Amino acid sequence: MEWKKRAQTLYQYLLSKLGQCDLCGNCLHDSSLTQQTLLCSSCLADLPLFDQAIIQGDLLNWPAINKGLPKINFDHLICLSPYLPPFTHWLPQLKYQGRFELATLLANLLAQQWEKQKLTELIAPVDLILSVPLHINKWQVRGYNQAHLLAKPLAQSLQLPYDEFALIRTQNNTSQVGKTGKERRKTLANAFTLAKELPGNTKHIIIVDDVLTTGSTANEISKILKRVGVNEVTIVAVCLTLPNTNN
Ligand SMILES: [Zn+2]
Repeated sequence: MEWKKRAQTLYQYLLSKLGQCDLCGNCLHDSSLTQQTLLCSSCLADLPLFDQAIIQGDLLNWPAINKGLPKINFDHLICLSPYLPPFTHWLPQLKYQGRFELATLLANLLAQQWEKQKLTELIAPVDLILSVPLHINKWQVRGYNQAHLLAKPLAQSLQLPYDEFALIRTQNNTSQVGKTGKERRKTLANAFTLAKELPGNTKHIIIVDDVLTTGSTANEISKILKRVGVNEVTIVAVCLTLPNTNN
C-alpha cells in the first residue's frame, strides 16, 4: 500500500525534525508548549513526582522522612520523586551512559518545582550552589560528575552562583550500595573537604546530588559547611530512596 508507506515516511521525517518522547516514543509536536525537548506533555504530566500538597516543597515536613533520616545536619530537602521508573532508568543512563540531555531535563524539572512552590519565599535566600563531588580517580574513569551536570543548569535557571570546585572528595570509597546508614556514615567520615574559602557572608547553600539514599553524604558535607559558618543547607536531589528506619 503506497499511501501507508508514504505516511510512515512522513512520520519518520517529523520524528527526525521534532524529536520523539523519551518514554512513549510519540512525536514531540507539543514540545514548544511544555518547553521540554525529551518528553511529550502526557508523559510529563504522568511523572511520579512527590505530592506537593503533603510536603509543601520541603520533604523534611513529612514525618516519615524526618524519622528515617536521623541526626541530620541539613535544613531542607527537595527531591522531585521517589526512586521509581522512569527515574530508575534515567539516573543510571545519566551516570553511566553519558546521556547528558537528561541532566538538562531533570534540572529544568527541579527548577520548575522550586519556583512553583515559591520556596524562595519560604526559606532564606540562597547564596551559593555546590554539587556533591566525585573522587578524582572516579572522575577520571567516568569523565564527568553527574551531580555537576545537574547543578550547572539548575544554577543557571535559578540565577544563583555555582562553584564546581569548592568541595573535594578526598577518599575514594567503594560503592555505598547495600550498606546500612551506619556503615555509610562510618566510611564517609572525613571523605570531603573544602578546597577554598567560601565567599564572605555565605549563609545558605544548596547541595545538588542525583539520589539521596541514607543522607550520609549530604550530612557529611553539611557538617563541613556549618563548621565554617554556613547557617542553612538545602539538599536538592532528583530522587529520594525512601529511608529504612531500621538503619
Ligand atoms: Zn510521551
